[in-house]
Parts: sequence; C-alpha cells; structure tokens
Amino acid sequence: MLLLDGGRACPPEDAGGCDGFMELLEFFDPEATCDRCEQEQEEGGEDQCTECRETRQWLGNYDPDDVPLAKFAAELAKARL
Ligand SMILES: [Zn+2]
Repeated sequence: MLLLDGGRACPPEDAGGCDGFMELLEFFDPEATCDRCEQEQEEGGEDQCTECRETRQWLGNYDPDDVPLAKFAAELAKARL
C-alpha cells in the first residue's frame, strides 16, 4: 500500500465533530472576524471578540495543515493488511 497524499490534520480534542471542526477552520485566518469582533473594533475596544480570542488561545499551536504523512506511511508499512 502506498500513501500518496493527505489533507487536514486530525481535529483537535473537543472540536465538536465534523461541523465543529469546519467552524474551527475559520479561526486559522487571522484576518477573519465575526460580527461581534467588528462591533468590538467599532467601539474602539479589542481587535477581536472574547469568543474569537479564547478559541484562538485554545487552539494554541494546532495547525490543521500539519499532516505527518511520513509518520502515517511508516505506520501503514508496519501494518499487516
Ligand atoms: Zn469574534
């Protein structure tokens, strides 16, 4: 068996399933803002709302594009299929 390619890392723990993960992906665009972020900015407050800031903090260094293909390929090679 040959592993050719992969897309997206495994969702982080507690991502809320596929739908939750799809919503989380929007937080990886640093320019992305929600309505509440824009309201905060208009009022001269923070550049992002509390929910967006906390979500980005929770995500930390998680990178949805970091797919360890070499590791998966090595595990597949070891597996007896
Ligand atoms: Zn926001």
